[in-house]
Formats: sequence, C-alpha cells, structure tokens
Amino acid sequence: MSAVRARLGRLAGLRALRPSLGLLAVAAAVAAVMATGLLRPVEDAFAHLRFSLLRHQPSQALTVVEIDAPSIRAAGRWPWPRDRFAVAIRNLEAAGAKTVGFDVDFSLQSDAAADRSMAEVIAVRPGAVILPTFVQEASRKGALVETHPLQGLSDSALIASVNVPVDTDGRVRRYHFGFGGGETYRQSMGAALSEAPGQRTGPFLLDYSIQPYDVPRLSFEDVFQNRFDKTKVAGKAILVGARALELGDTFSTPPYGTVPGVYLHALAFEQLRAGRALFAPAGLVTFGLAMALAFWLRAARLDRDKGASLAALVRRHAFAAAAILLVPVAVQAVSPISLEVAPLILAQALCVLWATRAELDRRAKAIVAEREAGLLHLALHEPETELPNRRALLAGIAERLAPTAEDAAARCVAVAAVGIDRYPAIRAAVGYGLSNLVVRAVAGRIEAACPGARVAHLSTSVLGLAVAAPDAAGLEAVIAGLAQIDPNYEVGGHRVDAHVKLGVAYAGEDADADSLLEHAALALDLARRDDEALVVFDPASLAETQVNLALMTDMQKGLAEGQFELHYQPKWSARDGSVTSAEGLIRWRHPTQGNIRPDHFVGVAEETGRIRELTLWTVERALEDAARLQAAGRPMLLSVNISGRLIVDDPFCAAVLAMAKGREKQLCLEITETALISNTEAAQASIAAFRAAGMKISIDDYGAGLSSLSYLKMIDANELKLDRSLVLEVVESERDRKILKSTVDLAHGLGMTVVAEGVETEEICGVLASLGCDLIQGWLIARPMPLAALEDFLRQREAA
Ligand code: C2E
Ligand code: CA
Ligand code: CA
Repeated sequence: MSAVRARLGRLAGLRALRPSLGLLAVAAAVAAVMATGLLRPVEDAFAHLRFSLLRHQPSQALTVVEIDAPSIRAAGRWPWPRDRFAVAIRNLEAAGAKTVGFDVDFSLQSDAAADRSMAEVIAVRPGAVILPTFVQEASRKGALVETHPLQGLSDSALIASVNVPVDTDGRVRRYHFGFGGGETYRQSMGAALSEAPGQRTGPFLLDYSIQPYDVPRLSFEDVFQNRFDKTKVAGKAILVGARALELGDTFSTPPYGTVPGVYLHALAFEQLRAGRALFAPAGLVTFGLAMALAFWLRAARLDRDKGASLAALVRRHAFAAAAILLVPVAVQAVSPISLEVAPLILAQALCVLWATRAELDRRAKAIVAEREAGLLHLALHEPETELPNRRALLAGIAERLAPTAEDAAARCVAVAAVGIDRYPAIRAAVGYGLSNLVVRAVAGRIEAACPGARVAHLSTSVLGLAVAAPDAAGLEAVIAGLAQIDPNYEVGGHRVDAHVKLGVAYAGEDADADSLLEHAALALDLARRDDEALVVFDPASLAETQVNLALMTDMQKGLAEGQFELHYQPKWSARDGSVTSAEGLIRWRHPTQGNIRPDHFVGVAEETGRIRELTLWTVERALEDAARLQAAGRPMLLSVNISGRLIVDDPFCAAVLAMAKGREKQLCLEITETALISNTEAAQASIAAFRAAGMKISIDDYGAGLSSLSYLKMIDANELKLDRSLVLEVVESERDRKILKSTVDLAHGLGMTVVAEGVETEEICGVLASLGCDLIQGWLIARPMPLAALEDFLRQREAA
C-alpha cells in the first residue's frame, strides 16, 4: 500500500500536469455559453452601466435636422417635392453649414422641376452635400443591390452609405467605417461627415455614452422657414434625417430602445471625430482572460490542504468581482476598448459553485474524519482515565519492536507493568473519581521519567509502558529511574501515597508484543507476591510456573484417583515409651513422576491457591484413620499439618470444624511457628475456635525461624515441636542444650507438651529426654508409614 503510494509520489510531476477537471469544466461551460450568445443580455447590461458611468456631452460639431411630425404636418404630404430640400440646403448653407448630409431616400424621381432645383442647389458647392446610398440584399441570394440617389442629384454631391448593421437579436450595437472596396467603396455617413480618412471598412462598437437626443437638433420645418438658431449651424456638419415615427426609419438599441437612424449616424460621427471607435477584444482574448481568472480562483486548492484557506479564496473572489466591475470602466474611460465581462462573470460564478462544492465536500470529509478519530480514540483508550488502553500499548510495543529501517539495528525495547500499591485503600480514601486522577497522575510521572514511552492503563491499578533506548545500558537506566518515582501525590486536595511495583520484560531476539506484555505482568505478580519494588521477568520462572500449573492439574486428578496417601510417623513418649499420637505426612505417588516430595507440591499448592483442597483431604483422611484405629482398640491422636495461610482462612476453618464434628478429640493441628508470628491476631481467633471445639494445637518447626520465647505466651497451644535444626547439635553444644532447656521449661510452664522432631540417634534422644522433652519423633523411632504399617507397629510394641 505505502509502496504504491511512494510510486505515485514519484509521479507527482505527471500529476501536476494533469489539468484540473474543475478547470476543464469551467472552460467548456464558458466556451459553450459564449458560442450561443446567451450572455448578450448580461453583456448589454454591463455595457449600459459603463455608458452611464462614462456619460458625456456631444461635441456640438454636428447638428441633426429632424424631419419630425410638425415638419410633415406643415408640408401636408410625404414624400416631399425635392424643392423643400433645396430650400433647406440653401438656408443651411446661408447660415454657414460646413456639410449637409442626408439620411433620406433620394433614389426615386419626385417632380422633375423640384428635383432639378435641388440639383442646382447642390451644384452651388460641389461636395458640400452628402447623399445616401443604401446597400441591401437582392432577392437573389448573396447579390447586393445598391439603392443610389438619382443621377442628377448625385452629380455634385458626395455619396455615403446609411447602412446600419443590425445584430441577430434585432439590436444595433455596431457601426461600419465603410462598405465594399476599391471602385465600389462607400464610406458610411458618420465617417463621411466626420471627414474620416477613406477606405476603412469593418465595424466598430457604437459608444452610447452620449445620449442620442443630447446631440443638437433643429426641426426641418424651422430650417425650411429659415427661423432657426444659426449658431447651431455655422461651421458645423448637418445631418438631415427622419424623426417622425411614421417614417419608420428607426432602430432598436440596447440602452435607449428605439432610436431614429439619423442619431446613430450622429453618434458614429461623434465617436470618429473624437477618435474613439470602440472595439472589443477578440472572443478568444476574453475567453483567455476568463480562464486566467478561473485558474486564479480555482477551488481545487481547497481540496488539497496547501494552506489555502477559504477566507483567502473568498478575498480573491471579492477582488475579482470588483475588478470585473471597475477595470472595464477604467479601460473604456482612457481608451476605445470595450472589454467583455459576461464570460468573466460566468467563469467566476462557476468558480463560486465549484468552491462551494469543494468546501461542502471538505467539511463532510472533516466530519467523517472527526468521527473516525473519535471512534479510534474510544477503541484505544480507557474510558475512566482517558489513558491509552491495552490495545494501544500492544500497538506501541509492536511499533518499537519493528522500528523504521534507519535505527532498527540499535533498538532495545522493554515493557513494564506498573502496579499501584494498596489501590483499594486509595480508592476508599479519595473516592472513585479521584482515584482515577491518581492513576493519571502516576501515568504522568511515568511519562516524565521515560520520555518517549507509551504509557497505558491496563487494569484498575496497573499501568503499562513500552520504552525503547539505543542500547541496553540506557534502557536499564530508564527502568531504574522508574523505580525511583516520587510516590507523593496531591489529588483534589488529598495527599496520596501511591507507591508502585514494577514488572519488567526486556525484549529478546524474537519477542512479540503480546508475550512481552504478559511477561511484564507475570513479573509484576512476582513483585507483588514477594513485595519487591522491581522484578525483571526471567524465562526460567515462567517455565517453572508452567510446570507448577501442570502439577496442580495433576493434583486435582490425583486426589480423585487415590494417588495420595497419608503416612504416619509415631511420637514416642520419652517418659514411659508409649505411642499414643502420630503425625500425618502426605505422600503422592504420581503415575509418571513417581513419588513427589510434599515440600515441593505443598508449596506449589499454596502458591496456586489449591492448598485448601489438599489439606481438607488430609483432615478427612486423618479423621477416618483415627476412627479406624479406635475401632481396632488403639485410639491415637493424629495430627495434620496446616499451612500458614490456611489458619486465617475462614471458609477453611469452618470446613474443618464441620468435618470434625463429634471427632474433634482425635485431631491435632500442626501450625508452623512463622505462620503464627506473621498473623498473630487472626491466628489467635482461629486457634481459640479449634481449641473450644476440643481439637489440639501444635506449634510446628519451633526454632527454625526467628523464634521468640515471649511470643509463645500469646499462643494457646497444646504442643511445641522443636525443629530438627534445634536438636541436631544438642549433643555437642552446651549452648544449644541451655537454650533447649529453657525452652522446654517455658513450654512446660505454659502447659505445653514438648516434641523433639527429626531425632535419628540414641544419643540425641537421651540428651533430649534428660532435658525434659516429653515426646520423641524421628527415624530413630520410626519412619513415616502407611496406616496398616502403623497398626503393625503398634501391635508389635504392645507385644514387646
Ligand atoms: P514437617 O511438618 O516438619 O514434617 C517432618 C518432616 O521431617 C517430614 O518430612 C518427615 O518425613 C521428616 N522426618 C521425620 N523424622 C526424620 C528424621 O529422623 N530425620 C530427617 N532427616 N527427617 C525426618 P516430609 O514428610 O518430607 O514432609 C516435609 C514437610 O512437608 C513437613 O515438614 C510439612 O511441613 C510438609 N507436609 C507434609 N505433609 C503435609 C500435609 O499433609 N499438609 C501440609 N500442609 N504440609 C505437609
Ligand atoms: Ca509437622
Ligand atoms: Ca516440623
């Protein structure tokens, strides 16, 4: 996956060349709309806006003489006889008119005399009168027919075209310099009146920033009657044309609606005279501008997160909109260039849509990403403490085990399980909510002690961390630092002591995250059991644990299948040689491992919590055997060994009491001295209960640990068993004899019988007897033996 991505990254050059689909779409839309002319109303509106903003007054160099309704009414008919025009030309020339142009049809004969009188007037100043021609399409397609003024009239006159090109929508936006070429070239009326140099053809845009009716004008009738303002004529170009609607010489214009044709010529005159033949840049240029704008405004930059913010894009749009509105006005004010804006507006509008889409898309993606992040957070964190959870830690361990290629060789990894001591007590003291804060605080200190470690919350009072260092020594230093964490916390106004214990597993050759974490947790268990601040996981101990677990499974089976036996070792009276009690010692004949020593499996049963089960079996066994011996006429006091932790185990004690009900007198419980010392109060209560029920209590292994004579007073026992280590040297050591003597005396003083254990020789036996020991137990008397053998032993002694 990442390899593919890397390869794609290398193709980044190509990707940059890939045109943005969005830009292509904008280009296609703009081109299509430009081609269809759908934008013309928009363009007109903006052109109108520019014309209004740039409005100015005409030059006063041309005056229109309107053939208006009053003129027609005064003449009483239309067409007029040409002598009316002759009078008008004479009056105008008398007033000093420079040229007189006509936008009136003179192609047909009127009345011969009148036509002649007009021709005569024109001939007075050859070239001062301009007569119109009109080019139109003949019925035969493609052929042009020119409607020419009468030969007699045109002899001394200039000829100019009054054609006005009408756009497909019926409106007039353009005007031509002239038509045709060479021999047939015709300058247009506006150009001729403005005395523009000849031979130019082609259209230019009409500048409607002069309002047509602002052009100075006179009524034809007034001119005809010679009662007009001569200043409007002197030295000026005059254009005579129809104003009256009934004459039908009108055109539709985008800004002003219907305008008489004569005014269009007048506007063209004004433009050409001022050298402002407006033109629009070619469509391709406008398209190019629109595309440049779209590129500048492209929303694609919102998709990729290249620091292009929405705000920046909005600013660009605002700037672009202002530029679209104002730049064309400015350009048109200083030059005859009329910029088209509709394609730019369209491009921008499309970019707005595109950006909106991109932004919505981006937001939707952001929401999805946020939700995903939330879910991921939930999956990787403990809800109570908001700390990373076990899953997150496993990922963190895996990351450190398989680091990036560069530093892989030099990485050492450790996983630690950190247990907070006495957590239930802390929780009880500060409350549930604050106890979570304690956990967080501990996690915080761990993080501070191990920069770069991943710390997680594994269970109520256990945190975990994964830490890596370049070398083993560094790693060990970090772990050692962990053990030194300051245990004093201040949480919610409470002062809390939170000591921690550490279980650590160092990663070996082929470590995996799961087993490392498990090993750290096992090490923490050991640390807690042995009350050690730090335990490093040792594979051997894991093997042992696994063996022990298997052993316990076997034990359960063995109890059910009769692999266990209780052997008895007699206790011999040094005073009278009688044997009235024996100690029960458990034996296990394992089907595959042979005889297993009790020292071994008893300890394992204690560690794995199976000791209750095992001991209840021996109690049951001893009670049955005692019953059997009594039935055989040889009542014996049988003792069983009770491991230290059972004496404070209430369910166990209750079970023993229930089991021995009615037979309590035949049972003695041997409890090791160390168990009694470490749990004196609880043990005292249990012992009292057993004693009350009639059972005997024996203090076992006295002298093996840190025995204290004063402590003996606190335990209400029947018997004191001197450990073998105490009696071994009794023959050689005077000191041992003295200690033993005082012990025996004290025990007797407290009303206890004294038993010497592990007596193997006559010599020791003799010394012990002389010191006052009541009972002797050991190989000298007999080895532990099955019940049947014990019966034989007793029978033989009786016989002796
Ligand atoms: P313990 O209670 O001190 O038992 C005495 C141990 O000394 C026995 O070992 C016994 O066989 C051994 N012994 C007896 N006389 C001599 C002697 O003259 N010389 C020597 N060297 N040893 C002698 P055993 O049977 O292997 O038991 C070992 C320990 O296992 C016992 O020590 C006791 O703590 C524990 N144990 C045995 N059976 C049970 C049981 O049923 N329940 C519990 N909880 N512990 C048991
Ligand atoms: Ca014992
Ligand atoms: Ca013992």
